[in-house]
Amino acid sequence: MRKLRRNGNQINIRWISTSEDNKLRGLAKEQARAATQEDALPQERVPRMKSTTLNIARSQAVPSNDLPVDIGRHAKRVDAALPGKHTRQLYDRLSWKEASVLAQLRTGMARLNGYLYRIKVADTDQCACGQARENVEHFLFRCQKWTAHRTELLQCTNTHRGNISFFLGGKSPSDDQKWTPNLEAVRASIRFAIATGRLEAT
Ligand SMILES: [Zn+2]
Repeated sequence: MRKLRRNGNQINIRWISTSEDNKLRGLAKEQARAATQEDALPQERVPRMKSTTLNIARSQAVPSNDLPVDIGRHAKRVDAALPGKHTRQLYDRLSWKEASVLAQLRTGMARLNGYLYRIKVADTDQCACGQARENVEHFLFRCQKWTAHRTELLQCTNTHRGNISFFLGGKSPSDDQKWTPNLEAVRASIRFAIATGRLEAT
């Protein structure tokens, strides 16, 4: 409401007596009944002003730029399967912090320069190591700053090293129908990310 006021709108609030209230309620019911009758024509339009104002307030509350295109692409690369039982299985029994870390890595909307730069929070998309754009794959598998933290990740598998789907509990296009997420690997990724402290707000 404060937001609406700030934008130069006036808001009047007024208590109404019970009898008036009843009258209004009766009217509202009548209108509702009429509107829900079969073949009912839409009544006059709801005044536009209110909804427009709300939309403006809403659009100011969230960053106006849409999600970067490559965010959807990242999520799909991580997991070719639609969210379902396996997603629930992944997040089951994770603490809030662990779940938040996993969600960041799976969506790509992570507190890493690659994404922060896109939403105009960081000045550069480059990693502090100076070698590449700091995206999820660079962070998980390649950045030399975190080599010492990667022992457990590497011990999870010999065949899936560097496979982002495997490490984030997603289905790769090459996985067959019997595929299930490797929860050990997912937990190792989460532990790795938490150990680096990189995804936390500073
Ligand atoms: Zn790096």
